[in-house]
Amino acid sequence: MMNKHIAYRTCVGCGEVLPKVELLRFVHDKTNNVFYDKTNNALGRGAYVCGDVCFAKAIKTKRLARCLRTSIDDERAKALFAQAFEHEK
Ligand SMILES: [Zn+2]
Repeated sequence: MMNKHIAYRTCVGCGEVLPKVELLRFVHDKTNNVFYDKTNNALGRGAYVCGDVCFAKAIKTKRLARCLRTSIDDERAKALFAQAFEHEK
């Protein structure tokens, strides 16, 4: 194939498959830390959302927590939201 390799990932909010670069990555690492992965490269189990609406949806449906194989309480969700989206405001 002549195409450049593009990695696609599924948004856990809307279920759409999008280029990885357009998605926000959240990581659950070995130390049970959950964080927004700015570098898109952190070690650990990752899950992707395409925006703040889908982030909220993925929290509500617990799909993000399930994908990351952890639990995300309100406090954690708020912290993740702040990490990923607050700079955009
Ligand atoms: Zn989405």
